[in-house]
Amino acid sequence: MVRTIELNDRQEQILKIVKERGPITGERIADELSLTRATLRPDLAILTMAGFLEARPRVGYFYTGKTGLQLLTERMKKLTVHDYQSIPVVVNESASVYDAIVTMFLEDVGTLFVVDHNSHLVGVLSRKDLLRASIGKQELESIPVSIIMTRMPNITICEQEDFLLEMAKELIDKQIDGIPVVKKVEEDEQIRYEVVGRLTKTNITRAFVDLTNGEIT
Ligand code: ADP
Repeated sequence: MVRTIELNDRQEQILKIVKERGPITGERIADELSLTRATLRPDLAILTMAGFLEARPRVGYFYTGKTGLQLLTERMKKLTVHDYQSIPVVVNESASVYDAIVTMFLEDVGTLFVVDHNSHLVGVLSRKDLLRASIGKQELESIPVSIIMTRMPNITICEQEDFLLEMAKELIDKQIDGIPVVKKVEEDEQIRYEVVGRLTKTNITRAFVDLTNGEIT
């Protein structure tokens, strides 16, 4: 769906008319502009969809009084993790640091999530975690990632329904690049987390670009 933020001249004219004379019917706006109702229909649809105008049946169009910035903020606040998450890349806790480095390169990601034999989240591995482990003279093939990862419960997690903006704040506050998207599962009366996605700074950047293009996918 295309939601235009930048308005064209005709849309600006319509807004002005509705601001001054609303509630006003589409027919009357068309008369004011010496255009047909059909010509005007797409512009009215865009202005209504974007939130500048509100349409009430049998009454006409109202001006909502919201600025472009207010509407953009409202739209931004509604975006959820689900809309922008990527596929997670996981390694088992028994995998070696060497294997994790290879996986990071092959999968082209900056953060790996570590899971146990039940596929539950137990840790996170960043690029620097792996670099740090590689600086010494250790045998990278014999060190399990579980020794060097950041482990539960110290992991920032999110769920698909969480708001993207909240998670963007988490990325900044915690100074991390990625957050595992999880689903809660109960096992042995304990809460565990299944990894269902990955939210990174790249996803947030994509949302930002989509919004400025006036498009939300
Ligand atoms: P890098 O280390 O490549 O700069 P990050 O900034 O993401 O990448 O990671 C910094 C540290 O925070 C690492 O030790 C990493 O294990 C840890 N970390 C990464 N993501 C999370 C997360 N979601 N929750 C908790 N700790 C994390």
